[in-house]
Amino acid sequence: MGKGVPEALRSISRSHWLMRAATAVVLGLVLASGIGIWLLRQGAIADTEDDDNRLGVVLAEQTARTLQSVDLVLQDLAGQIASVGVHDRDSLHALFGGKDVHDALQQRLSDLPQASALSVLDSTGHFVNQSRPWPTPDYTVDDRDYFRYFASTADPNPYISEPEIGRISGVPTVFLVRRLTAPDGTFLGVVLAPIRLDYFAAFYANTGLSDGTGVTILRRDGTVLVHFPTGVVAPGVHISTNVRWAEMVAAGGGHYLSPGAFAHSQPVFVSVHPLTIYPIVVDVSRTEVAALARWWRQSIAIAVGAIAATASLTFLLRALGRQFRLIERSQQRIGQQVVAIQASEAKFAAQSTLLETTLEHMNQGLMMVDAAGIVAVCNRRAREILGLPDELMAAGPSFDDLVEFQKASGEFAVSHGTPIDPATLTNNRSIYERRRPNGTIVEVRSVALPDGGLVRTFTDITARATAEQMLGLAASQDQLTGLANRHSFDIKLDALLATARRGNTGLVVLCLDLDRFKAVNDTLGHSAGDQLLTMVAQRMREIARSTDLVGRLGGDEFAIVLPGAARVGAELACRRLLESICLPYMLGSESARIGVSIGLATYPTDGATADQLLRNADTALYMAKAAGRNTWRAYASEDGQREHQRMLLERDLRAAVELRQFTLAYQPICETASGQPVAFEALLRWDHPTRGPISPEEFIPIAEQAGMIIPLGRWVIEVACAEAAAWAMQLNIAVNLSPAQFHDQGLLGFIQDVLARTGLSPNRLDLEVTEGVLVADAGDVVKTMQALRAMGVRMVLDDFGTANSNLGRLRGLPFDVVKIDRSFLRALNSDPQARALVEAILAMARALGLETIGEGVETAEQLALLDHLQCRWVQGYLLGRPASSAQTRDQIWKLAASNARSEKPVPSPLLATHG
Ligand code: C2E
Ligand code: CA
Ligand code: CA
Repeated sequence: MGKGVPEALRSISRSHWLMRAATAVVLGLVLASGIGIWLLRQGAIADTEDDDNRLGVVLAEQTARTLQSVDLVLQDLAGQIASVGVHDRDSLHALFGGKDVHDALQQRLSDLPQASALSVLDSTGHFVNQSRPWPTPDYTVDDRDYFRYFASTADPNPYISEPEIGRISGVPTVFLVRRLTAPDGTFLGVVLAPIRLDYFAAFYANTGLSDGTGVTILRRDGTVLVHFPTGVVAPGVHISTNVRWAEMVAAGGGHYLSPGAFAHSQPVFVSVHPLTIYPIVVDVSRTEVAALARWWRQSIAIAVGAIAATASLTFLLRALGRQFRLIERSQQRIGQQVVAIQASEAKFAAQSTLLETTLEHMNQGLMMVDAAGIVAVCNRRAREILGLPDELMAAGPSFDDLVEFQKASGEFAVSHGTPIDPATLTNNRSIYERRRPNGTIVEVRSVALPDGGLVRTFTDITARATAEQMLGLAASQDQLTGLANRHSFDIKLDALLATARRGNTGLVVLCLDLDRFKAVNDTLGHSAGDQLLTMVAQRMREIARSTDLVGRLGGDEFAIVLPGAARVGAELACRRLLESICLPYMLGSESARIGVSIGLATYPTDGATADQLLRNADTALYMAKAAGRNTWRAYASEDGQREHQRMLLERDLRAAVELRQFTLAYQPICETASGQPVAFEALLRWDHPTRGPISPEEFIPIAEQAGMIIPLGRWVIEVACAEAAAWAMQLNIAVNLSPAQFHDQGLLGFIQDVLARTGLSPNRLDLEVTEGVLVADAGDVVKTMQALRAMGVRMVLDDFGTANSNLGRLRGLPFDVVKIDRSFLRALNSDPQARALVEAILAMARALGLETIGEGVETAEQLALLDHLQCRWVQGYLLGRPASSAQTRDQIWKLAASNARSEKPVPSPLLATHG
């Protein structure tokens, strides 16, 4: 991926190089063509020079010969004249004026076609003889240039006259003339021959001159004698002004480019050839146009070729350039895309790392199966929950592989899973629960993906399921009430007994029989009776702990098993049951009241088997009915004694209330994180004059039953508030309220009064009530609690989890704090599910906005766990046992002193968040 960019850049730089090279080739081509054309031109010019030179040499030679053949005759004649000793005009005439000479001249002339005559003239310019018809005419030519020249100049060389139209021939003619000189050197006259200039044209024509080529014969002084082609330049024209030409002539010949000569307005190459003997120059001229004609054609061909090559190359280059630019642009785009992709890849990598981390650390198992059936994702939690070995997962197994593995390891031996809601199976999602072989319960949620894949989540709901079970939501068998029916009750009782036997713990069986049920059934009808039974069952369930077993044995007979309970605890349950069941029922528009009688049998004292226990509980029930219904009786032999004991205690209690034999003990409630006390709970103590200290769990139910709880409770409130008001620190005081105290119409006013009297701030008072308070006249109770809260007093739900606790039901009830019952903390050590339950309760309490107190903390492990689970406050022997008021005052004083010394921040008092 990262390789692409530099590769692309290299190819772009290569393309630039290619463009430059191609441009260089084009330039080279143009230059080469230019040089070629220039060289060709030079060659053409050189060729012209050569050609013209050769032609000039030939023509000069020819011209010289033409003249020479005439000149030889003239020289011979002059030689004869000299050899016979002619020394004056007379002797010349005498010796050479005769007819014989005339004939001889004629004879000689016949061999010279270029000459039209041969003449001898004397020193006066008169004819001595001539080849023309006899007799020789008598006139003088002393006015002619050649005569005047020789008359004045003793030149032994031949002379060429200016051209003129021949008198006899009528054609342009020049005279070839030689001087006759006497022995003494005096001028005797001249011999001459007129030369027909048209003669030259004849052989010039034979040379086949090409277009643009001309031949000119001139005198050395620049006078044109003949020009060929004829008619272009007239004889007699003078070109002596041409300096270049004159230089060439002086130099014995040469070649030059004339800007225009011989009527040519265009440049002309001129090849100059002076004859050696005769003052004649032969010029071969050729127009530049003619000279370069072939060159032009070649040049045009080359230029056209070069232009064509350049054009096609340019076209190619432009196309190539365009292509390169396109490539470059797309490479840039690719580059940008690569950068963008790299950036998004980095982002994606970061996100997927985040996702991976999240997946690996989430508390829910997650598995994703792709469309091909391969397990694409399976996080750590899913592997843990399902117990999938790492080796298996490392191999990237298919979903079928997993199922195979699970089958092989007995995963489905326990349960295949029960759908929670069958409706969920109909569409593309499903939810079901499965118990794994190791006992954990897993909720499996599946969602089918549109592409054929599957997403599954796995949640370990063991805690929740157990909690649900413990909170009394377990399935039951009695059709009407949902309670265990006789059959399942027997089985479960056996199991509970076995547990009690193993654990060496107690167990209580209660048999209940409704009073006046038959009357309701008869008067209001069966369905009303059924409705009543359902409501009774509901109330029983509410009172029973989650671990208790409640069954309907038939008709209006019920039974409850309280595992782990002793008689004392069971009596509390009986009291609560009576209280609850006796409250009126709304059956349609009718209100009905019934009563209940309860018989109680305890394991192991009252029997070792289910049968024995049930029989004895039944006997006790019978006794309760006999005692006047709406009451409970414990079984058997001890029964009388117990009842006696109870009566004694009730009597003593009455006296104790009168005599104020009670004291209060104070137990600290501490901040979990710091261990610092934030409140103290007031706990009632009765030091019996003869029996010693008696547990409030024993005497409070009696006080309640005997209607003594209201004055006793008022005393507790008063003393506790006064005590707290005297503390060295503003810590809270928690006071327990019995449900019966809410029947005290003056409770609200009394508390207000106490607060005013003691000067305790209302928000330092916490009132602890159990859920039982809500069973009776919930509406009034709630109103009282709301009124208390309105004053600033905090409400604490005590012993949460013992009865049919249902946190959901607490929603909207006027509580500030939930106190988790110490039975949970006790169970923490032995029961792995208790932890899950505590965790669930804390989470739910938090969700409802309630603070929590963990009660009964006896070990450091319990404390650490509650701290870990973010339970805000704790109470228990580990942090402090209930102590006397003096000890407590002392403790608080010391605490205040040490806080002042270390200036430790005082932990927020219990419930300080409220209000
Ligand atoms: P409670 O309100 O749940 O009070 C807490 C009980 O748990 C106290 O027993 C206390 O001594 C005990 N406790 C505290 N920490 C631990 C611990 O770490 N381990 C164990 N095993 N127990 C611990 P106590 O004082 O015997 O009180 C028993 C019950 O009597 C109270 O339970 C409450 O329901 C009732 N009670 C006590 N005083 C009053 C009162 O003034 N008025 C009313 N109405 N009821 C009272
Ligand atoms: Ca309490
Ligand atoms: Ca409690």
